[in-house]
Amino acid sequence: MQMIVTTDRVRSIICDIARVMDEQKQHLDDLDRAIGDGDHGSNMARGFGVVLQKLKDTPGTDIGDLFKIVAMALISNVGGTIGPLYGGMFLKASTAAKGLTKVDLPGFVRLFREGILGVQVLGNAEPGDKTMIDVLLPVLESLEKNCAAKVSCVDAFAEAEKIAADCVKKTKDLVARKGRASYLDEHSVGHIDPGAASSHLMIRAIGESLAK
Ligand code: ADP
Ligand code: MG
Repeated sequence: MQMIVTTDRVRSIICDIARVMDEQKQHLDDLDRAIGDGDHGSNMARGFGVVLQKLKDTPGTDIGDLFKIVAMALISNVGGTIGPLYGGMFLKASTAAKGLTKVDLPGFVRLFREGILGVQVLGNAEPGDKTMIDVLLPVLESLEKNCAAKVSCVDAFAEAEKIAADCVKKTKDLVARKGRASYLDEHSVGHIDPGAASSHLMIRAIGESLAK
């Protein structure tokens, strides 16, 4: 039977992402310290901390509302590159989810597509530039393939998680072409991209949340 993702479930997915970002703050800061300014984990944890507060204060009535709360909290509270990028991702998804109180897997993947394409438009990163796009695009491709094959939501996200983990490792071999790490040019090789790592954590959190 296909899973239906309700507003309540989306709320708990967002809470699970926030918890993971808090738990992994140090790890993501460490990754960013090697090729950036060491704040990626702090940025994500701070942003999602505000998300949790706002969610408590706002009883979102539909999935679009919830994504909009996430988007605005990230855009307003996370500086640098990543606030507008992840914020923009949730904003695009929120527009696509306007008025929806439940979605099936194809619907959920469509929201995903909107968000990820939004990141690409905003950040203008291509595959291979050593960014979160190197995780998000292969994940989207896998989810769409499994969706067409009518694979269950849980199995689709389990496969997406494996692909994401693999793609994170592969960012080690890439030269950074976008963001702060690009200042290092070839010296960025040998290090995992922190944004790719946080995108993997997000996919894993969504999958684990859906499997509950
Ligand atoms: P900042 O670089 O402002 O300190 P963060 O450290 O929070 O921001 O985030 C860095 C991450 O942002 C990188 O690891 C990379 O994945 C992502 N990133 C940077 N520029 C882009 C871009 N143009 N498109 C997509 N992702 C990007
Ligand atoms: Mg940084």
